Order: sequence, then C-alpha cells, then structure tokens
Amino acid sequence: MSLFDLKGRVALVSGGNGGIGLGMARGLAEAGAAIAIAGRNTGKSEAAAAELANLGAETTVVSGDVTDEAQCRRLVQETVARLGRLDILVNNAGINIRKSAQELAAAEWRQVLDTNLTSAFVCCQAAYPVMKQAGGGKIINIGSMLSIFGAGFAPAYGASKGGIVQLTKALASGWAKDNIQVNAVLPGWIDTDLTREAREQVRGLNTMVLMRTPAGRWGVPADLAGIAVFLASRASDFVTGTAIPVDGGYAAQV
Ligand code: NDP
Repeated sequence: MSLFDLKGRVALVSGGNGGIGLGMARGLAEAGAAIAIAGRNTGKSEAAAAELANLGAETTVVSGDVTDEAQCRRLVQETVARLGRLDILVNNAGINIRKSAQELAAAEWRQVLDTNLTSAFVCCQAAYPVMKQAGGGKIINIGSMLSIFGAGFAPAYGASKGGIVQLTKALASGWAKDNIQVNAVLPGWIDTDLTREAREQVRGLNTMVLMRTPAGRWGVPADLAGIAVFLASRASDFVTGTAIPVDGGYAAQV
C-alpha cells in the first residue's frame, strides 16, 4: 500500500462545499477516501459531492451549522452512520467579519470565534471516541497567516486562527497516545469566495498579496490538496502538533 493511499478511509470536511475545503476534499477523494461534505448550503454541498463522486469517491452530504454544538456532534454521528467510520476530520469551516476592534460588536466577535474555533473544538471532541475506538485518526485544523501575523481589520479572525494553532498543540499532546495525529494548515492568500469579498473590502489587498508573496501569485484551492493527503495518510504518522504554512513563501519573507 502506498504511503499516501486513503482507500477505505472516511473523511469529514466542514466547509467542504467550496474554496479550500473542496480543494482538500478533491485531493482526499483522488487518494481514495470516502468524503462527507458538511456545510449550511445543502445545494452547494450536493454539487460538490456530485463532483467528487465523478472522481470515483463515495460521498455523502451532512448539512449543519457548526456554530451549534449539537449540530457539530450530529455531523460526526451522521458521517459514521452513513459511511461506516471516521478516520479523517478536516475543520475548515470559517468566516471573517472585517472591522476594527473598536467597531466590532461582541456578538460579531462571538460569531467568528464560534464558527472558526469553538466548532473545531466540538467536532474534535465528537470525533475522539470514534477515532480512539478505531485505533487512530487524523485531524487537520485550518489556520491562516493570521495565526502568525496581526491585521487591524481582523481582530476576531486573528484570535480564532491563533487559537486554532494552540488547540492543535493541546489535542496533539493529549491524543498522541491514542494514535490520533492533529495538525494545522496555515493557508496563505488563496483565491476563494472569502478572499474575493476581502478584496472588495480591503483597499490595496490584491497588490499587497502579489507584492508580498514570493511565489508572485494568489494560491488556488488545488494548492491545498497535497498537504491534506499528506496529513491524512500514513505518510504523516509521526507528524503531530505542527502548523504548516501553505503560502507560496509569504510567512518566510519580511
Ligand atoms: P469560503 O467562503 O469559500 O468557504 C467557507 C466554507 O465554510 C463554506 O464551505 C461554508 O459553507 C462553510 N461555513 C461557513 N460558516 C459555516 C457554518 N456556520 N457552519 C457550517 N459551515 C460553514 O472560504 P475559504 O475556502 O477561503 O475558507 C476556508 C477556510 O480557510 C476558512 O477557515 C478560512 O478562514 C481559511 N483560510 C482561508 C484563506 C484564504 O485566503 N481563502 C487563508 C487562510 C485561511 P456554507 O456557506 O454552506 O455553510
């Protein structure tokens, strides 16, 4: 069996119906995994699942809002009920509310933290007994360049993504004995719905990204497929607690 083979494995990808989540799901599907796509927009999730089925993957759609604890737990339960197991959990669902700290309402702060960070904690907690009983598992949490750097227009988003890295380290430390590897991926600037909106709201963002990224381009969702397969596969069995930038060199350059 190849180090990267995911045949017989089952992955749940939150926010897997578009952008980075779908880019990762395509990679996992091509490596042989069955995929549960989770999101609020069922039509979009069904279209994504149909695309993955065309790649030969077994798929299912598990609709839900990850800001709701009970729905997070249900997403995990439905994945196991329909696909028989859960080996790989990708906590990718995320939003941003771009406002300065003095303008951001506490309810908006909570909305971002609930979507980006608390949901990851709850989904991991729900997945733990399933993975432990199966003898192991792989968890991939999605951070950001704002896990490392600050931005005045994104206080809650930055706090959530910094928190993702520390949550990843805590879970990796606690669950290594159960053969569950927990890692974070920190995407650079990737062309998705989220950043299309950012380009409209943050003046000069496009120029800054192109100037500042050594690779000289925006990333695309397909750039995240390889890291997803690596962190989901046997190839990464001794890799845990890391936060790996996939950023065209953005974080490497002053
Ligand atoms: P998109 O807006 O394309 O995707 C966001 C996904 O999250 C959608 O599939 C959406 O599905 C889902 N989602 C949002 N809120 C909820 C919710 N409450 N419950 C369930 N699903 C939800 O953005 P990206 O692909 O760019 O972002 C994906 C992740 O990558 C996010 O965590 C983001 O912070 C992170 N990231 C993105 C970067 C970029 O440059 N694009 C850079 C660094 C990190 P639905 O609407 O159906 O619920």
